[in-house]
Amino acid sequence: MCGIFGYVGSRTAEPILIEGLRTLEYRGYDSAGIYVPGFGAVKAVGPIDNLAAEITQTIPGTSGIAHTRWATHGPPTVENAHPHQDMSGGVWIVHNGIIENFRELREGLIAQGITFNSDTDTEVLSKLIGTLYAGDLKKAVQAALVRVRGTYGIAVMSEKDTKQMIVARMGSPIVLGVGTDGHFVSSDPSALLAHTKDVVYLDDGEIAVVTKDGYDVVTIAGEKRKKSTETVEWEAEAIQKDGYDHYLLKEIMEIPQAIKNTTRGRLLVEKGRAKLGGVEGVLDQLTNLNRLVMVACGSAAYATQVGKYLIEEYTKLPVDTELASEYRYRTVIPDKNSAVLAVTQSGETADTLAAIRLAKKMDLLTLGIVNVVGSTIARETDAGVYNHAGPEISIASSKAVVSQIVVMILLTLLIGREKGMTQEDGKEIAQALQDLPDQVQKVLDQHKDIQKIAEKYAHYTNAMYIGRKFHAPIAYEGSLKLKEVTYIHAEAYAGGELKHGSIALLDENFPVIALVPQDDVYEKMVSNIEEVKARSAPVLAIATQGDTQIADLVDDVIYVPKVHPIVQPIVSVIPTYLFAYYVGVSKGLNVDRPRNLAKSVTVE
Ligand code: GLU
Repeated sequence: MCGIFGYVGSRTAEPILIEGLRTLEYRGYDSAGIYVPGFGAVKAVGPIDNLAAEITQTIPGTSGIAHTRWATHGPPTVENAHPHQDMSGGVWIVHNGIIENFRELREGLIAQGITFNSDTDTEVLSKLIGTLYAGDLKKAVQAALVRVRGTYGIAVMSEKDTKQMIVARMGSPIVLGVGTDGHFVSSDPSALLAHTKDVVYLDDGEIAVVTKDGYDVVTIAGEKRKKSTETVEWEAEAIQKDGYDHYLLKEIMEIPQAIKNTTRGRLLVEKGRAKLGGVEGVLDQLTNLNRLVMVACGSAAYATQVGKYLIEEYTKLPVDTELASEYRYRTVIPDKNSAVLAVTQSGETADTLAAIRLAKKMDLLTLGIVNVVGSTIARETDAGVYNHAGPEISIASSKAVVSQIVVMILLTLLIGREKGMTQEDGKEIAQALQDLPDQVQKVLDQHKDIQKIAEKYAHYTNAMYIGRKFHAPIAYEGSLKLKEVTYIHAEAYAGGELKHGSIALLDENFPVIALVPQDDVYEKMVSNIEEVKARSAPVLAIATQGDTQIADLVDDVIYVPKVHPIVQPIVSVIPTYLFAYYVGVSKGLNVDRPRNLAKSVTVE
C-alpha cells in the first residue's frame, strides 16, 4: 500500500533510491529499507531520515530496490520492514499489497523446512520465489505468482544477476521510468519525475524484466506484451494526489476500493457469514455479552453511532456509544459481562487509548477497530479488526469512516449469525456488502452535479443536517465534515428532535440538508421537511433514486441508489462528503489541511 522504488543503470543506485523514497514520503508509512546487490539490505523503522542515518558511506552498486512500508501483516519493526530475502539470502523482494493466501503458502513452506524471520505476508513470497529459483529469476517469479492470491506490486532482484530487476503488478501499481542512464521503477509516477517523464504503466497480471538498456513485458502465463511509453503531463505536486486537486477528493473517490479492501477475504456470501480472524479467539465471549460499549472521538464516534443502530437492529445485542473523552473521566459502572470496543483510524487517539486502558483496569474485554496496523490501540486491545482502508492523508476523514461502518456491518453479520440470524438474512447482508463498491461508485459518478449544488449553497453561513434512525448519525457526520472543511456553522439533529428547540434557528438563510432515503422512517422525515419548508428554509434532500415526490417538496435533490437498509447509511454519506468538499473548494479553502486540526489526535 505504500511505496516501491527501483533503479538499474550506470549511476550509483543508493542516493537515487533514497531520494525516490523521499518523494513517496507524503503517503505516510512506518518503516523503510533498501537492497543493493553485492552489498545487502539496510532497513529502519520511522522516517526516511532514520534509514539515511543508517547509511554512513555511499553504497557502491548501480542497481537496487527500495520500499516504504505501511504495515498490514505484523507491526512496523526492522524484521518486518522490506526488502525480504529468500532462504539463500540471494533473492530479495519489495512488495506493496496483501498476499491473501499467505498462511496456506507459509505452512507449505514450513513443511519443506523453511524458516521465517518476520510476520509479513511478503516474506512468504520471497521464500516461495527462492524455492522456485534455478538460475532464471523471471521464471521463478512467474511460477510463484501463479500460486499467489491477493494484491501485489513487487520488485525482485538476485545477488547472482545484478543487472536485471523483475517487477510485477496485480492490483497495486508499478510504473517503469525510461531514463537516459538506466531504467527506474516506482509504485507512483511522482517519484519518477525527477529522472524522466517517459513512463510505462504495467497492467494487472504483467511481469517486466527491467535492465539498464530496456524492459521486456510478459504476462504471468508467459505471453509477450507490447507496451507503449507515455509522457507524464503532471507536475510532481499534482501527481502525488494521483491527479486529484486534493487528497480529500482522492480519498473520497477511493471509497469503493477501501470497501473492497475492508471486506476482502472476510465475506462468505453463500454461507451468509462474516469471517474476522482478529476476533475469532473471543467470538464466544462476544456473542454472549450483556452489552457492547463503543468508545471513539470525532467522525469515528459517529461511525459507532451508526454501528449501535445496526448491531441492535440485526443482532439484539445492546450497544452503548460513548465519547472516549467523557468515558475516561465519568463514573463508569461496569457490567462485568460487557466489552469495550475502541474505534480509531490512527490507533493512537489519546482519549480513546485512555478509555481502553480504563476498561482494562476494570477487567473488561477490550476490542479495537483500527486502520493503522501495529498502532498502540491495536497492540493494547485483546482482539480487533483492522480496516485496511489504506493511509488517509486528508485531515477530514472519509474513506476511513466508511470503512469503520463497513466493519460494524461485518461485526453485525458475525454476531448476528451466532445469535440466530437466518442464513437467508445473512446472505442478503453479505451480498449487499459485496455489491456496495458499485453502488457507491454510482454516487461518486454524480460528482459534477453535486459540485453545482454545492456552489449554489456555498454562500450560506449556517446549515442544519437532519436524518432519522440509521441516518441520524449520518446527519451528524455530514455536518462535522462541513464544519471541518468549510468553516460554515453547521448543526445536526435527529429529524424528530428539531421541533424541540433548534427549528427556531431556521429561516430563508439557514439551509437544511435532509437525509431522506425511502426507509421505514421515510414518512416521518417527509413531515419534518414540511415543517422546515414552512419556515422558508431552503432544503437539499439526499433521497432514493426514483423518488419523485421529494423533488416537488424540496429545492434540490441528490439521488442515491436504493440498497439493503444496512448499507444505506454508507451510500447516503457519500453526497455529504462531496458536498462539503466542493463547498470548501468554492470558498477557496485548503480543504486538506483545515485550520486548527491535526490528523491523528494524540493529545487530550
Ligand atoms: N503486506 C505487506 C506487509 O505488511 C506490504 C505492506 C505495504 O504495502 O507496504 O509488509
